[in-house]
Amino acid sequence: MLLPIVHAGEPVLRQQARALSPREIRSKEIQKLIEHMRETMRGAPGVGLAAPQIGLSLQMTVIEDRKEYHKEVSAEQLALRERRAGPFHVVINPRIRSAEDDQVIEFFEGCLSLPGFFALVPRSRSVRVECLDHRGHSKTIDASGWYARILQHEIDHLRGNLYIDRMHSRSFSSRENWEKFWKGKPIGEVRSELGC
Ligand code: ZN
Repeated sequence: MLLPIVHAGEPVLRQQARALSPREIRSKEIQKLIEHMRETMRGAPGVGLAAPQIGLSLQMTVIEDRKEYHKEVSAEQLALRERRAGPFHVVINPRIRSAEDDQVIEFFEGCLSLPGFFALVPRSRSVRVECLDHRGHSKTIDASGWYARILQHEIDHLRGNLYIDRMHSRSFSSRENWEKFWKGKPIGEVRSELGC
């Protein structure tokens, strides 16, 4: 079932979501919700979807970066972003920590709740996330590159934050103009042209 995705301005996107108990996670309702979120994310298509984006203030997000999504991205851009395919998984009640060798990197990103727009967003290159999985079991994720960016973006949703809170606001761009002017350009050049 494809669930409707809510857009910026919807109050739920600005709320702190509540944690789920392991027992709740194993319930039929949440297991069904996970399936629906997977279908909705694939249908969008997107590489991540957080429960607040379908109107539920729960600390749950689904993530999947499929190889087929990489067809439209050049090998050079994939390497630059350290973007690798990653399997479907569920991240619940996450606590995020920057890695010790914290390095901030910047790329354009978008969001299913702000369709048609992109902006340059600084994020940690690598993070460690403590969370529960789809069965309610504890899990530690050490992520770097694009996957670390996806995790940070999705976990922000669970705290009521959107990428527009972190972006270089002067880089905010429609998809059309992003493709026309900025996509594939070295970030240093983008920043100097935009004055950000
Ligand atoms: Zn988003």
